[in-house]
Amino acid sequence: MINLKDLTIKKAHEALLKGEYTCVDLTNAYLENIKKKDGEIHAYLEIFSDVLEQAKAADDRVARKENVTLLTGIPVAVKDNILIKGRIASSASKILENYHATYDATVIKKLKEAGAVFLGRTNMDEFAMGGSTENSAFGVTHNPHDLERVAGGTSGGSAAAVAADMALVALGSDTGGSIRQPSSFCGVVGLKPGYGAVSRYGLMAAASSFDQIGAIGKTADDVQVVFEVIVGKDEMDSTSVTRFEVKSQNPKPKIAIPQGFVTSKGVKKEVIDSFNKAIENIKGLGCEVTEIDFPYLKYSLATYYTLVFAEESSNLTRFDGVRYGLHVDGQTGVEDYFKSRQAGFGAEVKRRIILGTYILSSGYYDAYYNKANIVRDLIREDYRKAFEEVDIIIMPTTPDAAFKIGEKINDPLQLYLEDIFTVPANLAGLPALSVPSGYKEVDGKKLPLGLQLLAKPGNEKILFEMAKKIENML
Ligand code: GLN
Repeated sequence: MINLKDLTIKKAHEALLKGEYTCVDLTNAYLENIKKKDGEIHAYLEIFSDVLEQAKAADDRVARKENVTLLTGIPVAVKDNILIKGRIASSASKILENYHATYDATVIKKLKEAGAVFLGRTNMDEFAMGGSTENSAFGVTHNPHDLERVAGGTSGGSAAAVAADMALVALGSDTGGSIRQPSSFCGVVGLKPGYGAVSRYGLMAAASSFDQIGAIGKTADDVQVVFEVIVGKDEMDSTSVTRFEVKSQNPKPKIAIPQGFVTSKGVKKEVIDSFNKAIENIKGLGCEVTEIDFPYLKYSLATYYTLVFAEESSNLTRFDGVRYGLHVDGQTGVEDYFKSRQAGFGAEVKRRIILGTYILSSGYYDAYYNKANIVRDLIREDYRKAFEEVDIIIMPTTPDAAFKIGEKINDPLQLYLEDIFTVPANLAGLPALSVPSGYKEVDGKKLPLGLQLLAKPGNEKILFEMAKKIENML
């Protein structure tokens, strides 16, 4: 029996090299776990039928000692909005239910070259809009720590799969918290790389100036291994950047906390207590911790949702029933569009299309879209200044632990408020990582809480290093 619970990429890699087990054995262990658990968790929308063939190919590679990397034979789960050539990619939407990707996303190409094994595609909120996976057209994902609760979203399937040992690592995407929030809810580590660090080519666009692909794993080290494979400028994504990596790291990083923001209304006492405890421990490592005031941070949510709705509504115009996926016939060509979109999109997607179209309409464009862009710059400036003084900014990942399924779904505003701590990193394009920091006990269940670390663009490394220290403190 392979002990999946304590398995990391490096441990698995060593075991594969030593011949303690094969990639096929390892993959089988995950498949068995999926069979056992995914009926009640529903992290996956599909398990690929050729998984064992992929594992066999990885075994051959190991046997030939040809181009073996840390990820060779490692079972990975992939969020359903990342394209893998020839496979369905639906973004958990009816409109793309039977859409087959025609090319590999750049991150997939890199993982294939590294020899990873793709287990299947994971559940998510439709088109990465939401925060609980309840907006999936194919059913909700349950939190492995308490099945009555959400796994978070939008990469809820990926986080739940890792947390329940149904994949060693997973890919997610993060527009405003979709990697970090489910990672926090499920007690795993999730990284949203800095904007442009990882290619978005082959990621279905939600809000293009916010979206990033990142990794979810049980440990910061696993996430780092995946990140180091997928990072890099890509000629297929003009927004990807050549990184100027921050070389010399401060061994005792200077840390700032936006205290006023952390204790703002709606943040639960247990979250603040756990946060303060973590900060005390971090001080114990010899790190200098200061408080910092970000005057514009309180406008983050309003700014985020204004800009994101605008970009999403515009990105979704491509789903017209002609080019991709579902088609419903009407009397005229124009009616085809209406009918296809009416039948194919869920309620949250429609809400965002309507609001985003309004925000971008002539007459309101200046008042909303342009104004929000100006505030976005001010928020960026807040961070730029802060990072002249400090190396890491820390806040909680979420204002509370995972909530109950059904609790917020009929009140979209409540759900948007959950994103208070995660959206600023996307507004400013910063790398941000969530690492488990403790638990909140509710009805005898231990619900994970997360700590979020933010750094300057190009300095994901300091996040991994700090996260590893925090993991050791737990
Ligand atoms: N909850 C946020 C939203 O709905 C974030 C989504 C995401 O990161 N994809 O926009």
